[in-house]
Amino acid sequence: MQTPIPDYLDELLDSLRGDTSGARAGYIPELANANPDLFAMAVTTATGSTYAAGDAQAEFSIQSISKPFAYAAAIMDRGLPTVLASIGVEPSGEAFNELSLEPGTNRPRNPMINAGAITAHGLLVGPDADPEARVDRALRLFSQLAGRQLRVDENVCVSELETADHNLAMAHMLRSYGILADDPHEVVTGYTRQCSILVTVTDLSMMAATLANGGVQPRTRERIMDPATARQVMSVMAVAGMYDGAGDWLTRVGIPAKSGVAGGLVGVLPDQVGIGAFSPRLDEHGNSQRAKRAFERLSSDMGMHLFAPSHGRLDVVGVQREGTREVFSLQGNVQFTAAAELLDLMAESTATGQVHVDISRVYSFTDVARRMTLEGLRRLRLDGRRVFLDDPLQALADPDLGDGTYPETP
Ligand code: GLN
Repeated sequence: MQTPIPDYLDELLDSLRGDTSGARAGYIPELANANPDLFAMAVTTATGSTYAAGDAQAEFSIQSISKPFAYAAAIMDRGLPTVLASIGVEPSGEAFNELSLEPGTNRPRNPMINAGAITAHGLLVGPDADPEARVDRALRLFSQLAGRQLRVDENVCVSELETADHNLAMAHMLRSYGILADDPHEVVTGYTRQCSILVTVTDLSMMAATLANGGVQPRTRERIMDPATARQVMSVMAVAGMYDGAGDWLTRVGIPAKSGVAGGLVGVLPDQVGIGAFSPRLDEHGNSQRAKRAFERLSSDMGMHLFAPSHGRLDVVGVQREGTREVFSLQGNVQFTAAAELLDLMAESTATGQVHVDISRVYSFTDVARRMTLEGLRRLRLDGRRVFLDDPLQALADPDLGDGTYPETP
């Protein structure tokens, strides 16, 4: 059998392709030339499975999505107290390119607006760092998080620097207030290079899944940051990632997220998944219109919301061979992540004998996990296998396989 998740993502993208509203970012000439029809999405689970759909190979500049990850690097390099002394953690309620300084301290309100992100870039590595070293630091960290070597798109960088007066003006203001220590031109150049790093939706999903895991890259299993740093970054994304629409986004969609003007959108659900989406046309807030809608659908279809009940990883999956039978077992409160793992294990199976799904130690299924589990059983039966369900606690009430038939009881 094949896991149905890529089909689901394909269908999700297809349902939104007709939305051609919005416009490419106009203020960076190179972005105004992007192919507006590109559309892609990828989901990486905390256990390291990636599902991608659409133009998943397309590379685009990371832009403002670099901000949460550069903030993480600044915390790792300088310590949280030093970073907090220069950049706040309050929502600004304003657009990404507003100065939004806190009265009294003159700190930028948060690291997700440009003023805060320029300040965070200036903190990288250490005091008096070489401008080149700061960009290398960002590039190295982003590559580790993505699990592959990334690179800077020089054309995008040059193109943005030609029109960077607004960011330069902000950097000069920050320097005049003593928030920025270094030369404003050098810091804005470095920040712009950081924004020009090329990524795919799969890279973004992997970077976010590392945050979801509390700092462990799900594929390489490398610890890249400590859990407290990952928590700080996810919290700030929840508070300020969507700028002036942050509250509406958090309540409705519930996936802490960060957008970029090239059309990327990254999202994270702790313990569960990292999500990347991309399409170049932007809404009036500078967020990708289709990527935003793709997240909205994922959230409602998959029950993925930060404050949905039992969002912790309280589930375990396993598979065992017993003679010619294969036993898949689940434990705990089963939600999307465990069900996806179960479907992967089922998809990898090359056995031909009986299939047993043992859920005698499952406390509950989320609605989507229930549907995914039954769909796996249905597909295995279509493959010609006899399927059994061991469910003494009735965790899967009415396990109809979708055609009025039921798995056998052992
Ligand atoms: N490099 C862009 C800027 O500084 C990033 C903005 C964004 O993606 N929202 O304007």
